[in-house]
This record gives sequence, structure tokens and C-alpha cells, in this order.
Amino acid sequence: MPGKRSGAGVVVVIGAGVIGSSIALELARAGHRVIVLDRAPGAGQGSTSASSAIVRFNFSTTAGVATAWEAHFGWLDWAGHLGRDVGDLAEFRRSGLVMLDVEAAPRASWLPLFDEIGVPYEEWDSAALAERVPGIDTGRYWPPKRLDDEEFWEDAEHALGGVYTPDAGYVSDPGLAAVNLAAAASACGADFRFRSTVAAVEKTGGRVTSVRLPDGTRIPCAVVVNAAGPWSGAVNRLAGVGSGFTVGVRPMRQEVAHVPVREGYGGPVVADMDLGTYFRGEAGGDLLVGGTEPECDPLQWTDDPDTVGIHPTAAVFEAQVTRAARRLPALAVPNRPRGVVGVYDVADDWTPIYDRTELDGFYVAIGTSGNQFKNAPVVGQLMTELINQVENGADHDAAPVRFRAPRTGLEIDLGAFSRRRKRNTANSGTVLG
Ligand SMILES: Cc1cc2nc3c(=O)[nH]c(=O)nc-3n(C[C@H](O)[C@H](O)[C@H](O)COP(=O)(O)OP(=O)(O)OC[C@H]3O[C@@H](n4cnc5c(N)ncnc54)[C@H](O)[C@@H]3O)c2cc1C
Repeated sequence: MPGKRSGAGVVVVIGAGVIGSSIALELARAGHRVIVLDRAPGAGQGSTSASSAIVRFNFSTTAGVATAWEAHFGWLDWAGHLGRDVGDLAEFRRSGLVMLDVEAAPRASWLPLFDEIGVPYEEWDSAALAERVPGIDTGRYWPPKRLDDEEFWEDAEHALGGVYTPDAGYVSDPGLAAVNLAAAASACGADFRFRSTVAAVEKTGGRVTSVRLPDGTRIPCAVVVNAAGPWSGAVNRLAGVGSGFTVGVRPMRQEVAHVPVREGYGGPVVADMDLGTYFRGEAGGDLLVGGTEPECDPLQWTDDPDTVGIHPTAAVFEAQVTRAARRLPALAVPNRPRGVVGVYDVADDWTPIYDRTELDGFYVAIGTSGNQFKNAPVVGQLMTELINQVENGADHDAAPVRFRAPRTGLEIDLGAFSRRRKRNTANSGTVLG
């Protein structure tokens, strides 16, 4: 890393969500002096806390599938991944996941990626789906409709199946996972400073030199990593970066409904683009129900994540839970909305940007598009590899860094996450990536 300045060797990570905390851990492990700044009072209190924390492998690119497959081994061996005793741990629950068939993303288009990476799966027809997910309605209802559309209530004429991945599941407490990573990073020497908002990113001669807090405190550094989640676009603007990005990012409000289920839901996670929903069980007996951005619903874009309404709304709650209840007819739709509101940091092609920028020393781990919680264990590692190589002179834009995933041995071409990539046109146009 370039020296001869007061912040020589210091890496500032902006954001202590699951992504920033993971990056801090790996950078600290690799011997960097790391300072993490977060405006919140603790780790994982941004969009990470609202995450459904589903760990699945369906992505539209080889790099996407490989990263998710590698990362799930980190969740399986969470204590080993952290490498330190940090107290109570988030838990990975291997519930399995079934991706229901949908015309917009036929299985034939993405199963070759599972074959290439070695992700185990079972192909289910509608009879297998009915047998393996008791109580499920296997009807094909595509395309998703609004509740006030009469066709919403029409009977299905066909049945669908799906692809089941037994190794998928979810993490019990996403906020705790970030806290675990931050604690492990602290134990490796990273310095977390909470209630510290980055108000300016300073540079000299095309290279980042320091960040500044609102009270004027200046923190000299050689490298800055923007891991500010849905605030990442604002932080990029502070740094004046963005020229040459082929992919932009934008915050989008999201709701996830929490619905009590008397006997609990013990089935797999169900990804149901056919009805425009996804759901999973929760240890306490709730069913978590989210949406997959069906075309019939307005998207809740926002310019400022701090201005979004923080309470679930009756309209979204009713739509999400009623769709889930079409799939699980025994599910009752409560009168009162209950759940969480969060904000996605959506990239134009629903694929994250893990990259350097045109400002030397300024890196981004952004555009996580509602689907990168699962990849956090690997994002820290691949960003550390990228930063080390680029700071040592690698020209990542010309010859993208290749990351050797430690648990699977897979080689991941980080050009897939470049800010200057050709947009990923195979993406589903939804949170599924
Ligand atoms: C409702 C919802 C459901 C989701 N479900 C899933 C899922 O099932 N599976 C999955 O894999 N992913 C899911 N995701 C996505 C996943 O949760 C996110 O990609 C991930 O948590 C993002 O982590 P992060 O660290 O980048 O951002 P955040 O957790 O938002 O952290 C960013 C941090 O930056 C701080 N910050 C911002 N600006 C500044 C500043 N100027 N100075 C200092 N600090 C700053 C904030 O305080 C915040 O703590 C979901 C997301 C949401 C919102």
C-alpha cells in the first residue's frame, strides 16, 4: 500500500453492516490497520437488520452461483469462519429451498450453472412438490396479479413443479451475524467507531487521502471502502466517483410480512415468482413473506433511505400474505399488518458491484440488491484480495482479479462484479438476481 502520508496503511470501511463488518474482518486478518465508521450505534443496524437472510444458490451468472455456494460453507461453519470466540452466534438453518417453476426464469436457463459449480439439486414435478411441501397448492398462476384484479382469484389450469436445493436455508438472526463479524474483526484489531457519520471523502492528485466527520475530525487513510448499503450512492457522491460506471445503484423500500402460523411452518423456503412472493419459516413459528417485484406492483424507489416510511402498510401486507395464502391455502391473512421495513441497494442489473473506482484507493461493495446477505462471508475475502492486488499494482479493469475461494477451490472472476461490466442481461429483474 502506498506510504509517505499520515494515513499510510490505514483502511477506512464506511458501514458496519454484514458486508462492511465482513470486509473489516478479512482486512484485519490480512494485517491491515482497519477503522470502521458507522453512523449507527452498533453493527448490523442498517438494512442488514431487516434481511430475510435466505441463503440460496439461484443466480443468473456463474460467478453469482459460485459465490453463494462458497459462502454457504462459511455459514455452515460459522464459528470456524469467525475464528474467534465472540459469544452468542447467529445460526444457519438448513431448511432447503424450492424455486417454483416460472416462465420468466425457466429452470433450463439456470440449472446448467448448478451443474457447472456442483450445487446439488432435485427436480420436482408437481406431484413431488405436493408430496414434499405438505399443504402447498401447486397451481400455476402466472403472471402475478393485483388483489383487485378479478383474475387473481381464478382457478389454475395447470400445475407447476420446482427445483429443490437441500443445502439452502436461512440465518436465524441477520443483525447478530453482523455483530459476530464485527466482534471477530475487533478481536483481530479492527477499530469500530459508531455514531460516526462520514460527511466528506478527501483526495489529492486522484487518490483518496482522508475522510471527515461532521465535527471536522479528519481520519487520514490510504484506502476507503464504501460498504454503506442503501446509502452507498450518497457516499459515492461524497467521493465524487461514478464516471465510467455502467451500472448504477438506487435505494428501494421493501416490506417483509410476519405472519403467525399456529403449528409453525416446517417446510423449505419457497421462492415463488409465479405468484410474486417468497416465504420461509421462522423458529418462533412465524412465516416471513416477502415479494419478488412482480410487474403489477409499483416499485418503491426512493432517493433517500432516511425518508422511507418505517411501518408496514396494509396494502403491501395484504398483497404479500394473500399471495402466499394462494400457495399455502391454510394460511390465514391477519387484519393487521406486522413485519419489517427495509431498503435494498438495487443495482441496475440486480448484481452487486465489488470493485475499485476511478478514484485511486476508493473501493465499493455496493448494489447488494436485496440478495447479498448470504454472500457476506465471501465478500470480505474477495474485497481483501481485490484491494491487495490493486494496491500492489494490478490493473483489475484490464485483467480482472480472479479470486480462489478457500472452501470450494472455485475460481471466481471478479470482473463479473465490475462497475464497468456489460450489464448482466440474464438477471431476473428481481431480487433473485
Ligand atoms: C427486507 C430485506 C430482505 C432481504 N432479504 C435477503 C435475503 O433473504 N437473502 C439475502 O442474501 N439478502 C437479503 N437482503 C439483502 C441483504 O440483507 C443486504 O444485501 C445486506 O444486508 C447489505 O448489507 P450492507 O452491510 O451492505 O448494508 P447495511 O446493513 O445497510 O449497512 C450499511 C451501513 O452503513 C452505514 N452508513 C451509511 N452511510 C454512512 C455514512 N455516511 N457514514 C457512516 N456510516 C454510514 C449505515 O448506518 C449502515 O449500518 C435483504 C434486504 C432487505 C432490506
